[in-house]
Amino acid sequence: MIRFLDKKLFRYLSIFLFLNSSILPVNSSSALAAWVMKTNGVLELRTKSNTNLKAYFQKANQIYGDRFWIDFPGELKNPRTINGNGLIKEIRLGKPTKGKTRLVIEFKKEGYLRPLTWRMIGLDKNRWRIKLFSSKLLLKSIGEGVVEKRIRNISANKNFNNKEKRTQDFSQLPYVKQNKFSVVIDPGHGGPDPGAIGIGGMRETDVVLEVSKLVKKLLSERGVKAKLTRKNEVDLDLPPRVSFANNTDADIFVSIHANASRGKRRDINGLETFYYRGPRGRLLAKKIQKQILRVSPGSPDRGVKQGRFYVIKNTKMPAVLVEIGFLTGRLDARRLEKTAHRKRMAYAIAKGIIEYLSKVG
Ligand SMILES: [Zn+2]
Repeated sequence: MIRFLDKKLFRYLSIFLFLNSSILPVNSSSALAAWVMKTNGVLELRTKSNTNLKAYFQKANQIYGDRFWIDFPGELKNPRTINGNGLIKEIRLGKPTKGKTRLVIEFKKEGYLRPLTWRMIGLDKNRWRIKLFSSKLLLKSIGEGVVEKRIRNISANKNFNNKEKRTQDFSQLPYVKQNKFSVVIDPGHGGPDPGAIGIGGMRETDVVLEVSKLVKKLLSERGVKAKLTRKNEVDLDLPPRVSFANNTDADIFVSIHANASRGKRRDINGLETFYYRGPRGRLLAKKIQKQILRVSPGSPDRGVKQGRFYVIKNTKMPAVLVEIGFLTGRLDARRLEKTAHRKRMAYAIAKGIIEYLSKVG
């Protein structure tokens, strides 16, 4: 800050300063949890509770356009640049000094901005908003993570010891390179083939279609191209699912299913993920299995296994088949009938996929 002021070259304006009692240790993780720059000109942020924010504006010069930035305590793991659109040139997430995170919005050099009118508004202990410009200057919103969603506690079964899981934040997917990867999601069964029938007549085809659509949506929002083999209740044989994936040159193929036990035993619950070949298939299966278990406390880990299912055997990219629980099991079925759990499951699968893509890509 001082350094900038000393250089008279820049007209430098510090517009806000927020202070409070909570100070994070230098080596803690970034206090910035999620952000979105909306098309109506509003920047929204979600941070750790009671975070100190410092925001600045600097007018354009020969090198940069107008820049607005916010410093957060806690160190950013992966500095990155996200391309802008419309009025915004780019958005950068950086590490200006050790133990800090900086979010920079750089504008194109047109001077539409009126920073003296800007006001940062605290919506909550962990949420902020500021209107930076009028609408229509940004064509498409840009952001990472979910800002609006409150931290949700998972406590489906209080008898299990899930302290860590209950405090997990389900609202943020990790960053992944934009528009680099393409994924095919295959909702099992469909049309005249309902798949497993569970407690209360719950049908596998319905459950996995909803989960698959949510996975596609989450991935798309995160900049990963995602396609479904079926979007509704159609009769789709296995070979077309495979040729669809092979023809679209997908990086990975994920088939989503739900289980039924022989004799519809209510005491059999659990999650499992199959792959057919290769260390990549196995890694993808492991990443997904780990995440789906986290949202299903108490449901047994039936493991990552090799399986000879047609769709994972004949697709040419790393491919897995996920079983997201037993529709016939008391514990799993009670959850899978709820939209909230299907959302958590979709989030978990998307997270496993992104973790895999970030590692391998
Ligand atoms: Zn199935």
